[in-house]
Amino acid sequence: MTGSEGGKSDKVRLMADLLRSGATLTDLSCPVCASPIFRLKSGELWCAQCQKKVIVVKEDEEVREIEISSTLSQTESVLLTKIWEINERLKVEDDIEEVQRLSQVMSTLLENLERIRKIGKMRK
Ligand SMILES: [Zn+2]
Repeated sequence: MTGSEGGKSDKVRLMADLLRSGATLTDLSCPVCASPIFRLKSGELWCAQCQKKVIVVKEDEEVREIEISSTLSQTESVLLTKIWEINERLKVEDDIEEVQRLSQVMSTLLENLERIRKIGKMRK
């Protein structure tokens, strides 16, 4: 994938910022992305890769629970990005058949987004 390099250096900078702010690197790894986890000054555990607070628990089941909710929010942001992309394409598309096709994709994406948000609500 192109542009991933830029993202990576952003992450490195973010980790450096975390360390500078007094966070410490722990020997724990994120249940979602396996990145090293930081302990913030506040005592919270933080994954710089996922940009999320991580709760580390012993029980497998609870770890899985966190994994699922994090997957849901990741899927949601992917869908939102796609919806935005299609929206941008629709703005400039003149071919009526292509507009129709894009609209169809958009409607599927919106349905999926709604579904994901419903699942997310059910779990809270
Ligand atoms: Zn992570």
